[in-house]
Amino acid sequence: MDGSIILGLLNNIAVLLVLTMIYDYSWIRQETPFNFLKGIRTGAIIGGMGLILMMTPSTLSPGIVFDSRSILLSLSGLFFGTIPTVVAMIITGVYRLTLGGDGTLMGISVIITSGSIGIAWKYFRPNWKNRYYIFELLAMGMVVHLVMLANTVFLPGSVFKETFVAIAFPTMLIYPAGTILLGIVMVKMYKSWTNRKAKEQLSETERRFSSLLENVSMISVMYDTHGRILHCNRYFLELTGYTMEEVIGESWLDKFIHPDDRDEIGKVMEELISEQLYNQQFENDILKKDGSGIRIYWHNTILRSEEGGILGGASIGENVTQKRLEEEQLVEAKRKAEESDRLKSIFLTNMSHEIRTPMNAILGFTNLLSDNELPGPQKEKYVSIIKHSGNRLLQIINDILDISKLDAMQMSLQYSDSSLFDICINTFESFRQSQLLKEKSAIRISLDYPEELEELVLKTDCNRLQQVLDNLITNAIKYTDKGEIIFGLNLEDKGRKVRFTVSDTGRGIPKEVGDMVFERFRQVEEHEYHEGSGLGLSISKGLIKLLGGEIWYESEPGKGSTFYFTIPCYATTKIEIDKTVQEPGKLNLEGKHVIIAEDDEDSYYLLSTFFDGTNAVIHHAENGKSCLELLEKISPDLILLDINMPIVTGFECLEEIRTRRPNALVIVQTAYAGSEERDRIMNSGAHGFIAKPFDKQELFEVIAKVSNHYYR
Ligand code: ADP
Repeated sequence: MDGSIILGLLNNIAVLLVLTMIYDYSWIRQETPFNFLKGIRTGAIIGGMGLILMMTPSTLSPGIVFDSRSILLSLSGLFFGTIPTVVAMIITGVYRLTLGGDGTLMGISVIITSGSIGIAWKYFRPNWKNRYYIFELLAMGMVVHLVMLANTVFLPGSVFKETFVAIAFPTMLIYPAGTILLGIVMVKMYKSWTNRKAKEQLSETERRFSSLLENVSMISVMYDTHGRILHCNRYFLELTGYTMEEVIGESWLDKFIHPDDRDEIGKVMEELISEQLYNQQFENDILKKDGSGIRIYWHNTILRSEEGGILGGASIGENVTQKRLEEEQLVEAKRKAEESDRLKSIFLTNMSHEIRTPMNAILGFTNLLSDNELPGPQKEKYVSIIKHSGNRLLQIINDILDISKLDAMQMSLQYSDSSLFDICINTFESFRQSQLLKEKSAIRISLDYPEELEELVLKTDCNRLQQVLDNLITNAIKYTDKGEIIFGLNLEDKGRKVRFTVSDTGRGIPKEVGDMVFERFRQVEEHEYHEGSGLGLSISKGLIKLLGGEIWYESEPGKGSTFYFTIPCYATTKIEIDKTVQEPGKLNLEGKHVIIAEDDEDSYYLLSTFFDGTNAVIHHAENGKSCLELLEKISPDLILLDINMPIVTGFECLEEIRTRRPNALVIVQTAYAGSEERDRIMNSGAHGFIAKPFDKQELFEVIAKVSNHYYR
């Protein structure tokens, strides 16, 4: 083998190394995307290098020159692609043509085949730069140079053999080796550049990521394998109220986890660090600097060193305190809605029963009453049943009105000085003689009223107070079969409060019921019917709250219950108690003209019957208009005015009466029993007020009170 070939080749290597530089600087580092002009420009440079190679050839014989253009062009095809390689092929091809000689044809064909094989390799083996790229380079170098060897057939027969022998060894050994070496350098350049780029991108991503973690509304904490805090973000500090110095190096468990939860959370952290944690997400409470808790939903991961060792754990957390609270509220609201739906159904069934039962009694016994031959005592019994049933109906209506007023916060109180002794003794007496108690002969009722408080006067709404007492005592009687019901009171809190007590020896209330008895429509035995709307305690609670007190109970199932309530003592004075019993006087209205303004025929009839024996002259006005007409004709002494009348309302009548018959006493009768209604009526000029339904006794009391007040 001619040593000059090898020398020439080594010379060429220096030039070929320039190719690696071109590849590095003007190809892989150019971040602009590939374009045609860039391809032409690079092709021109590679072509120029080809010219230099061809100008420093090994000359085997005149006209047969030998150089490393095959390496240049095949690598150009493989690394740069079609356009630069085709341009380089054209440049070198044209130059070879100008050189002429015996080897022209072979020279041109080597240029074409080397470049084309490189291009083809690039496109048909797109992943050639993978792990086995050295073998790819070897394979391509072998193919290119085998073909080059084959190209010797284009030499004239005279020089073919001599040339073949001269170039066979370098072509099949040195050229592929050169191709591999240059290829390796270029691949390494490519890989080191892409690695660098990737690293740059990675550090940029890391920078963005850590700035994101710093600024995002998510907690980020890192801790070592002992659970000591290595890092946390600003959001975490803002949320917990600590400074960075107070947190770094501290034990996560000691600083942020409630002592009761430490074991559990410590276990989770251990499992995480020892890679045994099955679920990487969990939720727990952490403590803020002020000791309050917040709920965090965590995503956890392990922190590793570059070598893969475990450094600790990293957690990203979302503050879900508000979210969980809202969820709880939602669940609670749903529960309440379902509960109230259920209670509503129970209530409706109960109500229907509550209304139908007395209705049934009223209608049934009224029919029986029409039998003229009914013996006196039986008649009395029927009337008493009708009365009781009517009162029961009224109670239901009043309860429903009260609860809706309490709900709408429309319940207003009428404060007045009230003798507690009077309230209690009257209540006691009325229950002692009540039908309810008579039906339960095994119950005794007693009043435990301290003597020293007999003269106590309290500023309170005595009607509402009375209502609560009535509710509690009625319940005590209702839910007791035998034994004793004691009600009484005493002063507490240094005389600032009065505490009432109603105790019974009845069935008691199960522990689990708790304060539910104070909820509306709530009855302990919901599936077992008993008389009552389930509103009494709920109304009592609302009223006591309005009166400024509290209500509660103690109970032992099977043994009895004691209900307590307090009301504040706003003013206490001593009064003289008139203990003489008032005789209900007879009313004498001799020569007096009474107008009964009432549109309901039955109500008028009832009222007019009340006046039988009073010697009054009764006039009926069926509506407001006829009331005004009557005023023209007579000068009435008393007007019983229904406020809710057609054509001209009671209020309009009141105004006319005030101007036209100022001396007439007006007592308004209405079914709207509220105190607001009463205020409105009294402010419109009425002298008295009576709520429907009322009996003769009640009406006469009001008439007596009003006439005493205005005539004396
Ligand atoms: P009701 O109209 O059903 O009596 P309340 O609101 O007054 O409604 O009472 C609610 C429930 O509380 C009653 O249904 C009863 O189960 C229970 N309860 C109230 N007072 C007593 C008591 N003194 N002893 C036993 N249970 C009682």
